[in-house]
Amino acid sequence: MSKYIFITGGVVSGLGKGITAASIGTLLQARGHSVTIMKMDPYVNVDAGTMSPLQHGEVFVTDDGAETDLDLGHYERFIDRSLTGANNITTGQVYGAVIERERRGGYDGSTVQVIPHVTNEIKDRIRKVATESQADIVLVEVGGTVGDIESLPFLEAIRQFRTDVGAQNTAYIHVTLIPHLPMTGELKTKPTQHSVAELRSIGIQPDIIVCRSGYPLSDDMKEKIALFCNVEKRAVISNLDAKSIYEVPVMLENEGLGKILEKQLNLPPREPDLSEWEEIARKIAHPKHRCTIAIVGKYVSLHDAYKSVAEALHHGGLANDASVDILWVDSDKLCGASREQVAEILEPAHGILVPGGAGGKGSIEGKLKAIRYARENKVPFFGICLGLQCAVIEIARSVLGLEDANSTEFDPDTAHPVVDLMPEQKARENAGDARTWMRRGLYECRLKPGSIPWKAYGVEYIEERHRHRFEINPMYVQRLAQAGFEPVGIWPARGLIEILELQGHPWFLGTQFHPELLSRPNRPHPLFREFVAAALRQAAEVQGQ
Ligand code: GLN
Repeated sequence: MSKYIFITGGVVSGLGKGITAASIGTLLQARGHSVTIMKMDPYVNVDAGTMSPLQHGEVFVTDDGAETDLDLGHYERFIDRSLTGANNITTGQVYGAVIERERRGGYDGSTVQVIPHVTNEIKDRIRKVATESQADIVLVEVGGTVGDIESLPFLEAIRQFRTDVGAQNTAYIHVTLIPHLPMTGELKTKPTQHSVAELRSIGIQPDIIVCRSGYPLSDDMKEKIALFCNVEKRAVISNLDAKSIYEVPVMLENEGLGKILEKQLNLPPREPDLSEWEEIARKIAHPKHRCTIAIVGKYVSLHDAYKSVAEALHHGGLANDASVDILWVDSDKLCGASREQVAEILEPAHGILVPGGAGGKGSIEGKLKAIRYARENKVPFFGICLGLQCAVIEIARSVLGLEDANSTEFDPDTAHPVVDLMPEQKARENAGDARTWMRRGLYECRLKPGSIPWKAYGVEYIEERHRHRFEINPMYVQRLAQAGFEPVGIWPARGLIEILELQGHPWFLGTQFHPELLSRPNRPHPLFREFVAAALRQAAEVQGQ
């Protein structure tokens, strides 16, 4: 039988609860337990797929093509295990299922209520993840902050869980903020006391309090929190701001969190093997090399919109003993810029990455300028999904001379639809079925022997995660190849483009899939490893000049 750890948050949102949950997963795994992590998001959306990246950050896509919360990305990176759509529950899904069952007559005439019907649906979904994953320990993060109206059914469900499976099989962890008052230099515990009081008023007594703060907690403060919140003093864990999120597991272990969880969950005491994480922390603290990589996107004002891309770049850095500084460039701002201005903005970058995204005329024109700069100045370039599509448009326009080449996503009437929907998609779109026809989740790709990706992966067949509707138009592939933009990765089942590589350039690659979603700190993605290596060569060259 699985054991369960429930993680709630108090005081404010954006505390890094997801990183805390993910790090706890690491600590348990380092003790030889198998772990899965799920997130319950109290919003009414069915999934994150329809939410603006500027509000909600990136949409993280799993192997099975589910569009999930970005915390699932942290979970996968910290426990190095692929999760599924079932690991992200939302109010929209829960109510959707309950209402659907009610319409089918599945409740035998009873009045359908939040308790027990909605809470049962939530609990069933948690148990289902436990059964299907076969994990020893299931971590469940409750999104939002205690006190939010929409969180209540989820909190009630996890409250009931302890009665259902027993105290020795459950742990409640509450993550709070200890604010620092700059005027007096004091740390304040009051908001934590209030938030725990709120949690207790709905019947949940936390076993462990994880305190996020910018300064270390004194012994006295821990004692005070323990007293007011009714937990053991050693169960008050300090979780200091870290230079890198990958330092958090070792930090929490040193605070004794692993040992307390062993006691709470009645697990045999074991010494964790965190050597891999210590090594990662050491590399982050003492990088041998440095480079700057520009991310040119529409949503750079919220860095979370490109969370996995940024993390994958850092992993690529780890693989090369290097630290990667990210230069965030708003593609809209490049739109009206002259060539000189573009060069000035991008000059510090040793590599340029154009990530995935959707339309916006100004932002597309800005991306095309960045790509042209990278192509002409032989700066390493990595285009991902929309980034690949933009590279195709840029090369079609500048090199093939197809002046109005475009994606039909941005110009449905273009004379040269170099990026387009496939005929079978068009039929579906016309029937109003656009979203269901996205290519989402894992697809196979065959690599061309001798190409950059073939050398990077070291195999001929790979599988990568997708999330897009448009494809590189097969009618233009031959002409693009003649211009040096060669297909080096193909989806064998359909013969569609997965990767294009520009010949005669040190490193210029575009992928239709999202490699960032499969990169892990301990297993950096091969393409990010090689892209950062190319950026480091560029940095060395610039320095040598
Ligand atoms: N909007 C483009 C498409 O649907 C690209 C999507 C993406 O970059 N994820 O094909």
